[in-house]
Amino acid sequence: MTQHTAAVIGSGFGGLALAIRLQSAGFRTTIFEARDKPGGRAYVYEDQGFTFDAGPTVVTDPDCLRELFALTGRRLEDYVELLPVRPFYRLCWEDGYVFDYSNEVEENNKQIQAKSPADVEGYRRFLAYSEEVLKEGYIKLGTAPFLNFSDMIRAAPQLVRLQSYRSVYSMVSKFIKDEHLRQAFSFHTLLVGGNPFNTSSIYTLIHSLEKRWGVSFPRGGTHALVRALVKLFEDIGGEIRLSSPIAEILTEGDRVTGVRTAAGWEGRFDAVASNADVVFTYEQLLGRTPRGQQAARSMKRRSFSPSLFVTYFGVEGTYPELRHHSILFGPRYRELLKEIYNGPGLADDFSLYLHAPTVTDPSLAPPGCSTFYALSPVPNLKKADLDWNELAPAYSERILDYLEAHYLPGLRSRIVTTRTFTPFDFRDELNAHLGSAFSLEPVLWQSAYFRTHNRDDRLKGLYFAGAGTHPGAGIPGVVGSGKATATLMLEDFGQHYSEADVSHQFAKA
Ligand SMILES: Cc1cc2nc3c(=O)[nH]c(=O)nc-3n(C[C@H](O)[C@H](O)[C@H](O)COP(=O)(O)OP(=O)(O)OC[C@H]3O[C@@H](n4cnc5c(N)ncnc54)[C@H](O)[C@@H]3O)c2cc1C
Repeated sequence: MTQHTAAVIGSGFGGLALAIRLQSAGFRTTIFEARDKPGGRAYVYEDQGFTFDAGPTVVTDPDCLRELFALTGRRLEDYVELLPVRPFYRLCWEDGYVFDYSNEVEENNKQIQAKSPADVEGYRRFLAYSEEVLKEGYIKLGTAPFLNFSDMIRAAPQLVRLQSYRSVYSMVSKFIKDEHLRQAFSFHTLLVGGNPFNTSSIYTLIHSLEKRWGVSFPRGGTHALVRALVKLFEDIGGEIRLSSPIAEILTEGDRVTGVRTAAGWEGRFDAVASNADVVFTYEQLLGRTPRGQQAARSMKRRSFSPSLFVTYFGVEGTYPELRHHSILFGPRYRELLKEIYNGPGLADDFSLYLHAPTVTDPSLAPPGCSTFYALSPVPNLKKADLDWNELAPAYSERILDYLEAHYLPGLRSRIVTTRTFTPFDFRDELNAHLGSAFSLEPVLWQSAYFRTHNRDDRLKGLYFAGAGTHPGAGIPGVVGSGKATATLMLEDFGQHYSEADVSHQFAKA
């Protein structure tokens, strides 16, 4: 049997998941990564003994990762250790209210009872709803490619029954009356770029996703998980080329034939899958072709999720009262989100996510020290035309001042090292359209069939995997997109997984 060849452009979680599936199925697969390290948004910085994971830190649904190892009879546990995180998040408000949120329903109930007794029953009903959405929206549809409108029509009755036309916040509010608790059970969409006031209630499934499979953190940081996936890919014969930006996807007529790197190397491949930004892929890598130009024009009319400003800082000493993940709500919720999603400027206040990984794994800092990052969602570059080169130092100072005043006493005098990642970095380092942190906004009219298709409709041999495709951003989302895309590619090339498809081992009924 001829061995097919595939090029995967980008080594984000979606690109890695796809490449592992292809290589497992017998494709000779090469990943081309523009940067010097793999992982994409899950890059890593090492400064003066501090290890800063650049992006994702909340690891959910580890089974979607285990499946990748099991395809060739391996075990994730032999490559990386996943540590449980408890509570999942500490949620803090400026008025002093604190909620420790986890999958221990009794623990949650106790806290809800103390805050708003009437909401205990509402929370029970909310959980039941969210569990049903998980089954319909994630387990059944999360890895199914939506190529035809008829696929959407088939899913429509369920989507209507689950009231997916309502927003997450509106659905949560149906069950829960207390405003703090409404925020506590609706902020999750922000982790995949969605405004809880606009994002379909389907995204309440994140709540049961976390409840079912917990929240974990890889020992050694998220990048240890990236390294594990790269090692798996190499162990099964895949090749990854770092510092190899692709400058063009080569075509002949209506067929993709290979890739050309920025350094001028050209290679022929039977299939090319892009894990890079979807607009960038059409506009830059296929800009010579009518299809590339037309698709880029139409993509750019769509709505893109906000960007993020991230400040990484390493400090002397520890803060024992802190938890691994903290969501620090500012004084405003709905109004602040409106400004983040619509611009036109940078709000005076902010809500932050504070990452403190040394709470779980002290090896990520020198002995007795702590590693942090603080993340502030900010408008993308279309919604607010800001000069981040000029703004970054002052904005970072504002965040550190705020943290010192509210949560980390004495912080400023203990800081050893800092660095930032701005919307300009998303644009320039990751080729992200408008500096968006999560690609297309996850709203109903940009989901499933209405999102970038996992296989291009016109150019044969061209595929996509990653945050801009179905089902969307977040580690489980992009790993799911890798599965949807691999399924299509194997069908198109008449191949099947060499090991029997192992997903039955992880049946999520
Ligand atoms: C700060 C932050 C925190 C987050 N936190 C979480 C979290 O806690 N949990 C969670 O589940 N999700 C989280 N997310 C979302 C999640 O990280 C992303 O949705 C996911 O990692 C995106 O993966 P991807 O497969 O789309 O690829 P990306 O990570 O976007 O990688 C794409 C890759 O393509 C490469 N590339 C681009 N152009 C080229 C080219 N021309 N040639 C070769 N390579 C190219 C890029 O260098 C990059 O490596 C977070 C995101 C951010 C930014």
